[in-house]
Amino acid sequence: MADRFFPNVMPDFVPESATEIQEEAEPALPASQDSLMKLLSMPYPSLSERFKRAALDLKETIVVQTWGMSGQRVQDSTLYSGSLGAAFLLFKAYLFTKNKNDLALCSQIVKACHSASFNSRDVTFLCGRAGVCALGALAAKHARDDQLVNYYLAQFREIKLPRNLPDELLYGRAGFLWVCFLINKHIGGGTIPSTYMGEVVNEIIKSGRALAKRGSCPLMFEWYGERYWGAAHGMAGIMHVLMDMDLKLDEVEDVKGTLRYMINNRLPSGNYLVSEEDRKRDDLVHWCHGAPGVALTLVKAAKVFGSDEFLKAAADAAEVVWNRGLLKRVGICHGISGNAYVFLSLYQLTGNVEYLYRAKAFACFLLNRAHKLISEGEMHGGDNPYSLFEGIGGMAYLLLDMIDPSQAKFPAYDL
Ligand SMILES: [Zn+2]
Repeated sequence: MADRFFPNVMPDFVPESATEIQEEAEPALPASQDSLMKLLSMPYPSLSERFKRAALDLKETIVVQTWGMSGQRVQDSTLYSGSLGAAFLLFKAYLFTKNKNDLALCSQIVKACHSASFNSRDVTFLCGRAGVCALGALAAKHARDDQLVNYYLAQFREIKLPRNLPDELLYGRAGFLWVCFLINKHIGGGTIPSTYMGEVVNEIIKSGRALAKRGSCPLMFEWYGERYWGAAHGMAGIMHVLMDMDLKLDEVEDVKGTLRYMINNRLPSGNYLVSEEDRKRDDLVHWCHGAPGVALTLVKAAKVFGSDEFLKAAADAAEVVWNRGLLKRVGICHGISGNAYVFLSLYQLTGNVEYLYRAKAFACFLLNRAHKLISEGEMHGGDNPYSLFEGIGGMAYLLLDMIDPSQAKFPAYDL
């Protein structure tokens, strides 16, 4: 179990120094530990500048590797592992820098993804065509190109949901609903009619209740024969999206009941189950499976329902992430970058600077060590090493978010 993560030997809290620490003549700690400690105590404005520089450098590398070197051809059009992830990163960079070149390049990559995904049957933001259309519309809105906004929205409306669609986030109904919510929030309220979204919500609730019928959890979902708990394929991700929807009172109670079921049946270590089918497995502390993804959902529940029980459970899950979440992987889905967002979301909800410190510690660990650890084979660079959800694209996105942690949002998930 221990080989999935680095032991977290970083102090539980390091206050920021008022001024830059000067180089010491004789460092008291080993060189790498010493430079990490310096980063952790650095005044935030200086650290923020370092995050920004590193993030923009990474973005350049990612664009060259995924777009320039491929001859501007798209093999994988998804945001999760493919070219759309680079486009999303460029869009994020544009929001910070207002560099029009980033926005233009984002649009260019989306256009290529649009052609490449024309026959795709996948319907979500992370892995499907809806992501291409929505990001296309968003980028066009920032470029003040109304005609292009309308074109991508019309393309989005062409997407048909297959009858046998699963309910989860990566490929299913929850992932499609999330795109509708994004479009309404950032393009304009009512762009996707609430009646249409309501029909999809009804489908999710109906299938959740049907599978939960004889159990003690009000809603239960299946993906390829397993009843997953996590954010990517299971209950945590589906509840996360449902909380943004207009729900009836009994549906709200079912969402709360499902979250309580998960809290009451979590593992003795405080981590969360991968699935109902495997009640012993305790080695995954990822956004996709395990405490981090559930923690983000619980933070949202605490915000939406204003309840201490969910905040307390989120804080417990965050302890698991602090102790076992310094993963030997870099990305968003099952890496250090994604896990850092647990602390950012708790910081935003509570204002507690200890959570900001913990997010900063994970980000500084990446800034200080990731390149070396990956090049030495101590850390896995990801199956798609430049991608947003598996590779250093995720690290670049996190470092951009660390520039202003009060506004950070887990990519393609929190709005
Ligand atoms: Zn994962």
